Amino acid sequence: MGFADRYLHAVNSSDLRDDEHHHATDALCAAALADTAGAGIGSLLSRVKYADGTQHKLFESGSANLAQLLRIWTARVIEKGRERKWVREGTAWDAQAAQALYRRVAERSLAHWLDGKCEGCSGSGNTADRRICVPCKGTGRGEIGGGGFEREKALDMVSELEALLQSHNARASALDRGARV
Ligand SMILES: [Zn+2]
Repeated sequence: MGFADRYLHAVNSSDLRDDEHHHATDALCAAALADTAGAGIGSLLSRVKYADGTQHKLFESGSANLAQLLRIWTARVIEKGRERKWVREGTAWDAQAAQALYRRVAERSLAHWLDGKCEGCSGSGNTADRRICVPCKGTGRGEIGGGGFEREKALDMVSELEALLQSHNARASALDRGARV
């Protein structure tokens, strides 16, 4: 099982499943967003991605940061999905399907962003005998999974995560420079 699958499995068997069953997601997301107003998500992204350089270990220990990040990120994706009108939410059935879509996009994009390495070459882009890895064509990036529309949205959200982290890093280094002056 690759990282993304293990991640999704862990996420689905964590307390987040309770959220779904108890339909308390919106309240939880609102609380998480309030907790981390402003630069919050950027520092969380940075902590989860780079904490000790071992995302796998963090992930396997069921990191509280990761669970919190996924909760906040899911709320953001829901916001963006609605703003951008990814799908109709006219009927209750539509709204439920939309929620499921937003969740899948949030989970896949976060898993891919955290560790989207090609499984064939572990991200090196080359095989052991120094040929170009066929599955990833030498890019070292794994497939994000999912089909057509969903895949496209997940890739969009990967770019958003990257942009959030970069603006966080830029802010953090500006603050750091400021502190040293
Ligand atoms: Zn590869």
